[in-house]
Amino acid sequence: MRTIQWTVMAGCLAVGGAALGEEGFGIKPGTPVIPGTPWQVHDGTRPQPRVVETAGAVSVKAPGDAKVLFDGTSLDAWTTDGKPATWKIKDGSLVASPGTLISKDKFGPVQVHIEWRVPADRKVNGQGGGNSGIFLMGLYEVQILQSHGNKTYPDGTAGALYGQTPPLVNATAPQGEWQSYEILFTPPKYEGGKVVEAATATVIENGVVLHNARKFLGPTQFRQLASYPAEHPETGPIQLQFHGDPIEFRNIWVRPIGTYDEEK
Ligand code: MG
Repeated sequence: MRTIQWTVMAGCLAVGGAALGEEGFGIKPGTPVIPGTPWQVHDGTRPQPRVVETAGAVSVKAPGDAKVLFDGTSLDAWTTDGKPATWKIKDGSLVASPGTLISKDKFGPVQVHIEWRVPADRKVNGQGGGNSGIFLMGLYEVQILQSHGNKTYPDGTAGALYGQTPPLVNATAPQGEWQSYEILFTPPKYEGGKVVEAATATVIENGVVLHNARKFLGPTQFRQLASYPAEHPETGPIQLQFHGDPIEFRNIWVRPIGTYDEEK
């Protein structure tokens, strides 16, 4: 009988042992069924996203009106869990280190550009070794995972709305190469204490669409069915997850998405 060890932390399902058998990469863990699908949360038997080979990151220089969160030189835009940022800068890259990296500024609707990579010599297996995540509003995780040639439960693949919806395709380039995400995020809309429009994310990895205005079921959960809380902030920080893995980041910038009237 195999032993499966769960670690309780969003975006980080840890599975002890490499071979999980034909039922897939994560199993039937007794989690809830995701509404509108036949699949359970973290269901290892859910179909794997089709693989699309890409040339890696589409690096875009920060536009003139962007808020630059990391340009290779400074962590001034961040805290680590509310205290001075302690993640490391190495050769112009930001290296994930203990604690959650939290932007000082908060955002509602926002465009995010971020580039990441898993070092080539890092041992990766499923959710282990190459795992991080970007949390919009500090609540909604777009998974970061070394997913080239590394299968896992599909709702934990790179670009997944973690624990909810796999990416349309797996567009992650080989380990050691830089990857890029463009994310357009819209917070949920509330009226009278109820959500009337779900939060959505459009996600593009290495120039390939992973989600087209995909709805979140609610803030990211681990092994639980996500749902919307009764109260919800209008803005929140960008957060980067430390999962014990030295994921590197570069060229992080954001642009709050206004409206035409506001821009005039
Ligand atoms: Mg994660």
